[in-house]
Amino acid sequence: MKIIIIGGGVSGLAISCKLAKEKIDNILIEKRPFLGGRAYSFFDKNSKEEIDNGQHIIVGACKEFINFLSEINAIEKISFEKKLRIPVLNKNKLVNLRSHNFPIKILGKVFSILQYKHLKLRERISLLKTLYKISKMKPKDLKELDNENFYNWLKNNNQSKNTIHCFWELFAIPALNDEIKNVSASIGIRLFQVAFIESDINANFAIPNVGLTKLLGDSAENFLKNTNTKIIKNQEIKSIIVKNDKISGVITKDDRKIKSDIVISTLPPNQILDIIPKNYQSYFKKSKEINMAPIVGIHLWFENYFFDEKFMVVLGSPIQWIFNDSKIKNSSSSFQHIVISLSNAWEWKNKPKKVIKEIFLSEINKLFPKSKKSKLINFSVIKMLNATFRCQPGIQKIRSKNRTKIKGLYISGDWAESEWPSTMEAAVISAKNTILDIKKDFGNKL
Ligand SMILES: Cc1cc2nc3c(=O)[nH]c(=O)nc-3n(C[C@H](O)[C@H](O)[C@H](O)COP(=O)(O)OP(=O)(O)OC[C@H]3O[C@@H](n4cnc5c(N)ncnc54)[C@H](O)[C@@H]3O)c2cc1C
Repeated sequence: MKIIIIGGGVSGLAISCKLAKEKIDNILIEKRPFLGGRAYSFFDKNSKEEIDNGQHIIVGACKEFINFLSEINAIEKISFEKKLRIPVLNKNKLVNLRSHNFPIKILGKVFSILQYKHLKLRERISLLKTLYKISKMKPKDLKELDNENFYNWLKNNNQSKNTIHCFWELFAIPALNDEIKNVSASIGIRLFQVAFIESDINANFAIPNVGLTKLLGDSAENFLKNTNTKIIKNQEIKSIIVKNDKISGVITKDDRKIKSDIVISTLPPNQILDIIPKNYQSYFKKSKEINMAPIVGIHLWFENYFFDEKFMVVLGSPIQWIFNDSKIKNSSSSFQHIVISLSNAWEWKNKPKKVIKEIFLSEINKLFPKSKKSKLINFSVIKMLNATFRCQPGIQKIRSKNRTKIKGLYISGDWAESEWPSTMEAAVISAKNTILDIKKDFGNKL
């Protein structure tokens, strides 16, 4: 059986490596000259350093993604935080949101929230009650909340504006890359169930300590080198070929036909229709209802070190999350490399680089006075306009199934059916589920 995977992002790489591990040959075709899709790094001409297209964070709950990194021998390329500790700066007051290990686990969690002093005592108690309610919710309850927005749900559950801002949004905006008024309550609640309730290590951060291409594209390529998998880069697929509702291959941009019994598309929702023949488009048209959202990454290199934390959240400032790339990557450079990651970045996506530089440098100087004594050496802005798909109310009904009505054609990728938002974890889960479907359909013919 011939298998073609279209797209060498996380999902395509995971399918390819997992099949190769089982000695099932496949061809991976990627449009761009490099692998990794929406998670890659590149050589920045300004700083002459390898930088990421966007800060990627993994949490302990990303079990399938972490497994995948182990499979491709890349697990050493992420650093696990042993405990959850997030420094949160609000109006010049720094409070650590941290986990506490008590012999009775629930007490540890209660203690963690009670220590979170950006909230008034009654807000902390109300937050605990809502987290308790969330812990008791079943998949059926979540399904019913898919059309509701997360903000309204929190308001209806006695969460004050301050609690929403200082706790819920602190995690929900970066994880879901959206205003919580625009997010499905079902996805929002599930995020907190997974990260805070289901296990003690689920919320712990794991951060890549190398560039994303080294972590993903290079590691996967290295793994595949010793297998019969063929990787074709710089090759765009123009269309799939369907005969009598059955896949028979793909056509490349330079009009070459490649025959195949099984084709897996890992294209994002805003690109999938580009490769579907006209007479089958109506079946895939729901993908048009899935919108994408931008993330903007701001890189600053300072002459001297002034910021010692690995990362920090800043509330009430255009800075949302700030990362100490020098510390995370254990850099030997004498310059300090800081990355500001702006989620839900509609406001910034069209702003000129010069304006962004002025605003954020002045903000850094205001928040970290020591930085004023340190000269800015380099500055780069990376705007990823279609970074993640939006988890708007109703999203769970329109995400694609892995199996399609065209026999032999499968859809994988972060936006395919799962309870995860647009993440590398969702991309690997869908890879795994797609392989399960293929095995059910083709069994030992593979
Ligand atoms: C700035 C930024 C920050 C992020 N932060 C996080 C984070 O902190 N944590 C997290 O888990 N996730 C994060 N994400 C999301 C994460 O990167 C994605 O969810 C994941 O990479 C999606 O992988 P995928 O394989 O489903 O899709 P993609 O990566 O989009 O892969 C699709 C691939 O198909 C290729 N392709 C497209 N059309 C064709 C064609 N016609 N022919 C051949 N190839 C084609 C593309 O070039 C691409 O390589 C972030 C994303 C961005 C952009």
